[in-house]
Amino acid sequence: MTELVLIRNAEVWAPTPLGRRDVLLGAGRVLAMAPKLAPGLDATVIDAAGALLCPGLVDSLVHLSGGGGEGGFATRTLPLASAQEPLRAGVTTLIGALGTDDTTRNHADLLACARSLRIQGVNTYILTGSYQVPPVTLTGSVRQDLIVVPDIIGVGEIAIADHRGSQPSARELARIGADARVGAMLAGKRGTVLIHVGDAADGLQLLHDVSDSSALPVSQWHPTHINRSRALLEHAPGWLARGGSLDLTTSTTPALLASGDLPAASVLAELLGDGATPGQITMSSDGQASLPLFDDAGALLDIQAAPIASLFDAMRDAVLQHGVAFEAALTTVTRTPATVWGLGRKGEVRVDADADLLLLEPDSLAVRSTFARGRVHHWT
Ligand code: ZN
Repeated sequence: MTELVLIRNAEVWAPTPLGRRDVLLGAGRVLAMAPKLAPGLDATVIDAAGALLCPGLVDSLVHLSGGGGEGGFATRTLPLASAQEPLRAGVTTLIGALGTDDTTRNHADLLACARSLRIQGVNTYILTGSYQVPPVTLTGSVRQDLIVVPDIIGVGEIAIADHRGSQPSARELARIGADARVGAMLAGKRGTVLIHVGDAADGLQLLHDVSDSSALPVSQWHPTHINRSRALLEHAPGWLARGGSLDLTTSTTPALLASGDLPAASVLAELLGDGATPGQITMSSDGQASLPLFDDAGALLDIQAAPIASLFDAMRDAVLQHGVAFEAALTTVTRTPATVWGLGRKGEVRVDADADLLLLEPDSLAVRSTFARGRVHHWT
């Protein structure tokens, strides 16, 4: 028999605010939601009076099998070992990708890491490809990967405007987008291509060139790291005006901020203030990427893995420090990434959606409980 959980009296942010609701969960789904659900159900009751109920966060980029290595073998980072870190930080869905290194790391290993974490209780998907063009794949082609491997939902991160990438032409990039699009159509997926944007001056120009010269819609692409510099951020309005979407990286460090990275929370406030909609912007942690730590003289001290918890922190900071409306900030880490990646049952609190949910404290927004994959974790 299915175990039922009844969450009573929560303030539901779906992320649209719905007011006070009772929410019934079972078999990993939201079964019913109403101002008052009938008593007498044989359910475990959680009294959530005073708490906010919202969707679990969807992290669009995590190096699940480890990242880095760009300063030699000593700078490789470890795989994400445990689902506890994301779940504790309110992240219920992780999208895994390779990065610069597709030689010592590969998609079979990435897939195994994703499935291990899923067994531990967090939802995981992966992307095929890496920084390089032509893309490295699991089964031989982007199209085939999308069609035959359920875990693979898109491509990336393909590097543009970066000295570590393959310097692809618009034609090469269009071919990848077309393969992703056709494979995804045949598999009933979204097939978005995540684009790693480096710090070269051309920024998003290649995406404009591809969009000008091919039949692919701008929604085929989702460029990330847009807050890596003021110069790159200046490319954002033109891409957003064209209907494009973009992703901000939350795992900035003091050293990166000192060298020109911009905090995702303040950039989100700035973009929304300039007229962008929360439906065009996502944030992601770039978790397990290598973050170098330097001493005052600039010597490398250590390599740290980028924290997944930075995703929740950026959402909270956007609200509490930068005046972004809770609904808007929440949308960029729930409904919008679920839409970008075609995860139709995720990113929203509604009947029939997956029961990937958070209970938050109303003022601090601290995570009180996380629901994911049929399990509940209470943190306080
Ligand atoms: Zn990247």
